[in-house]
Amino acid sequence: MFELKNQIRPELLNFKPYTSARHLTEKGRVLLDANENPFDNFINIGAVVANRYPDPTSATLRAALSDYVDVPANNIFAGSGSDEIIDLLLRLFCTPNQDEVVIIEPTYGMYKVSSELNGIRTKSCLLGDDFDIDISKLEEAVSEKTKLVFCCSPNNPTGNNLSTDKLLEYTRDKGLILVVDEAYIEFSSFSSLTRKAEEFPNLIVLRTLSKAWGLAGIRLGYCVAGEQIIEYLMRIKLPYNVNVLTEKVALLVLDDRIAMENAVSDILSERERIRIEFDRSDIFKKVFPSDANFLLVLCEDASKIQNYLADKSIIVRNRSSDPLLDNCLRITVGSKAQNDLLLEALRRMPV
Ligand code: PMP
Repeated sequence: MFELKNQIRPELLNFKPYTSARHLTEKGRVLLDANENPFDNFINIGAVVANRYPDPTSATLRAALSDYVDVPANNIFAGSGSDEIIDLLLRLFCTPNQDEVVIIEPTYGMYKVSSELNGIRTKSCLLGDDFDIDISKLEEAVSEKTKLVFCCSPNNPTGNNLSTDKLLEYTRDKGLILVVDEAYIEFSSFSSLTRKAEEFPNLIVLRTLSKAWGLAGIRLGYCVAGEQIIEYLMRIKLPYNVNVLTEKVALLVLDDRIAMENAVSDILSERERIRIEFDRSDIFKKVFPSDANFLLVLCEDASKIQNYLADKSIIVRNRSSDPLLDNCLRITVGSKAQNDLLLEALRRMPV
């Protein structure tokens, strides 16, 4: 007799999927939970040739990305969001039920979800003081089985930039692949590691058009790494992983860097404005420094505030179940009007 649960990979039977906060309210209008960019891009997509398959090498797109990040196109791989690239990297480097990855936590949930989905064990390395990397903790987490280390800088959800110098040297000397996710780098005052891929052949820098470029809906991520790593990724990816609509929109938007920079600068001034208001408010016990488009705040009772805001149709993310983040909320910086609604709701919150 066919029994579906006998067919599912045993480690996936109780698999914990990636979660979001959108289920909280059906009437959510002010969506400050997913670190999206609040600005639409007003572009005319025009005619798109969709009867032909896209270029499997995404050559035009990689040339445009190369122009933007200032590294050769041969060092760039494009995928359907950085989420696809996270999955491909795991499948490229890690043998299921054998190899391990180390994740510097608390961080973006998909490193763990993708690893577990692929049958790869994860070891957690907690951030140290000021949510920065503690190399001695990393040394404890790394074993003979470790193939790859994930870290995110600026880190989601803590918001801060991580000190990566020692990490780069340690992983290179140990022969480990290091993936640094720079999804939020355009909001940061620190510079990107993309130029270091030459000096560190073990380094893979993940980037995305979902944040500063405001294109979360088209699903386009990319990574910068040594040419050979890029060649391997090209071999294992699905043939047409970046579709023509995505490519077309990305090329139009990448052409207007000033528009992106203006949006980033608006978001940064809004981040500062709400940070000051949060600091003044009695509701938050601490507002953590941010190099990204969101703020992490420590509350007395995070669920209470999250539910209160949800009743007002404002959705924020509760990070309490993450290690080190008990009673912390992550609040995305919205547009001025959205942030006004948020601040007004907080002002009216009964104590
Ligand atoms: N990396 C980080 C750190 C993120 O926070 C997110 C999305 N929240 C992603 C990657 C996913 O990016 P993409 O939309 O390119 O898949």
